[in-house]
Amino acid sequence: MTTFEEIGVPASLTASAAAMGWAAPTPIQEQAVPAGIAGRDLIARAQTGTGKTGAYALILMSRLPAGGRRPSALVIAPTRELAIQIDGELQKLARGSGHVSTAVYGGARYGLQSEALRRGVDIVVGTPGRLRDMTERGILILDEVKTVVLDEADRMLDMGFEEDLDFLIGAVPKPRQTLMFSATMTKGVERLAESKLSDPVKADVSVDEPVTGLTRQYAVPVMRNEKREVLQQILNNGTPKAIVFCATKLMVETLYEELHVDRKTGMLHGDMPQSLRERVIRQFRENRILVLLATDVAARGLDVNDVDLVVNFDAPSEPETYLHRIGRTGRAGKEGVAVTLYTRQETHRMYDYEEITESRIRKASPEELEPIEAVHEPVPLEPRPERRERRPRMERRDGRGPATVVLQVGLGRDDGLNRTQVADFVRSRARLGENDVGKVGLGNASSFVEVRTDVAEKAVADLSGCIHDRKVVTAVIAPRKTPYAEKVGHRS
Ligand code: AMP
Repeated sequence: MTTFEEIGVPASLTASAAAMGWAAPTPIQEQAVPAGIAGRDLIARAQTGTGKTGAYALILMSRLPAGGRRPSALVIAPTRELAIQIDGELQKLARGSGHVSTAVYGGARYGLQSEALRRGVDIVVGTPGRLRDMTERGILILDEVKTVVLDEADRMLDMGFEEDLDFLIGAVPKPRQTLMFSATMTKGVERLAESKLSDPVKADVSVDEPVTGLTRQYAVPVMRNEKREVLQQILNNGTPKAIVFCATKLMVETLYEELHVDRKTGMLHGDMPQSLRERVIRQFRENRILVLLATDVAARGLDVNDVDLVVNFDAPSEPETYLHRIGRTGRAGKEGVAVTLYTRQETHRMYDYEEITESRIRKASPEELEPIEAVHEPVPLEPRPERRERRPRMERRDGRGPATVVLQVGLGRDDGLNRTQVADFVRSRARLGENDVGKVGLGNASSFVEVRTDVAEKAVADLSGCIHDRKVVTAVIAPRKTPYAEKVGHRS
C-alpha cells in the first residue's frame, strides 16, 4: 500500500490526514499529488467521493508556505455549498500545517468575508461570481497567488461561469500552477484546459457505469413520426421508474409537455438552474417523479440505484453514450430493462451497441416488451414550515428607502416556466441568495420579480442578455407607480 510519505506529503500534513481517519492516499491522490507537488499543471477526471478535495488540498499545503497575508492559492468551485465544504476540509487538514483558509460566496454579506481576507489568508475558496466581485472591488488581491484550482470545472461551465473564470485566472500573475478537476471531460472542459493549462499531467479515476447481465436490452424499430406514441406505449406498460434519454433539450421539453399531465414526470437539461436540477433529482430519488426526461449532460452524476427502465428515445451515435445511459439501470443487484427506439437508418448503431456491451440486444415490437410492475412508495414529505419562517421579511440593509423593488423579466408561461422556476432562474443567473428574491408575479411573456433594492441594479445587469432556451432575456426595474400588490396579485 502506498503511503502519504511516498507521494511526497510532509509529516505535518500526514499527521492531520491520519487524524481525519485517512489511512492511505486514494487513487486520485496517488496520481495527482506527486505531479502537483512538483509544480506541474494537472487535469483530473474525478467525481465527488474520490478524495479529489484532499488531492489538491495536499498539493497546496505541501507546496505553499503558511502564514501569508495575501492568498497564495485560489480555489474556485461552482456552488456555495461546495465552497463551504471545501473550506471545512482545508481547515481540518491545516491543523498540522498552520495554513489559513476562508470561503467567500454569494448570498452572504461582504462584511465578514472581507474581514477574514483582511486578517490574512493563505487559501481563498469561493464561487466565481463573488470572487470576481471582491477582486473588482479591491477586497481580494490575487497578485500573490501561485496556484489556482478549478473544482467541478464542467459544472462551472454548465452554469455559465466561463467569463468569470477567465477574469479570475487572468488576475493571477504568471507563471502560475493550474489544477483542474472535472467529473466529465466535455468539449468545453477540454477547450478550457487547452487555454488555461500548460503541459498538464492527466489523471483519471472515473469509473464508467458497468453494464451488468442484469440489464435486458431491447431495440424497437420505429418510424420517426411514431416515436412519441411508442414511448407512451412503453411507459404505460406497467409502472416503471424510468429515465428517458433524448438527444436535445428541445425534445426533453417537448416530451415533458406531453407527458407531465397524467404522470409523475420531471425533466433535466443543461439550461435549468442548478437548484432546480437538484430538486428534480431529489424528487426522482424519492419516487415523487417516476419518469425522468433527460439529456446526457444533465443526467451525468445522477446517482439513483432503483431505475427499472432506461429508454433511449433517440439512439445515440456514440456507443459509449449508449453504454453510459443503460448503466443507469440494472444496478445494485436489481434487474433492469433498456429499450432503444431506432429508425431504419439507425439500424447499424444496434450492432455497435452489441459490440460495446458484449451482449445481445433483442429486436422487439412495443407489444412484445415485458410489463414492469414496480412498487414505488413515495417517501413521506417532511412537514413544511410556515412560509413566514421560510422567507424572512426583506428589509433594506441600510434602513433607508423601500426594501425591495420589482423587476420585469422577459420570461413567463410562454417559456414553459412556473413561478418557482422564474425565481430560480433570477437567483442563479444574478447570483442572488435565497432571501434576495421575493414574490413572483407570473405573466405569459414576462414576469414581475421582487428583489432586494440593494441588489436590483446588479441583478438587472446580470440578467439582461442572459440566454434562456435560445431566447435573450430582458430585465428592467419596473416603474414604481403601480402598487406592488396590484402588480403581483398573489403570493409566490
Ligand atoms: P471528495 O471526493 O473530495 O468529495 O472526498 C470524499 C470524502 O473522502 C471526504 O469525506 C474526504 O474527507 C474523504 N477522503 C479524502 N481523502 C481520503 C483518504 N486518503 N482516505 C480516506 N478518506 C479520504
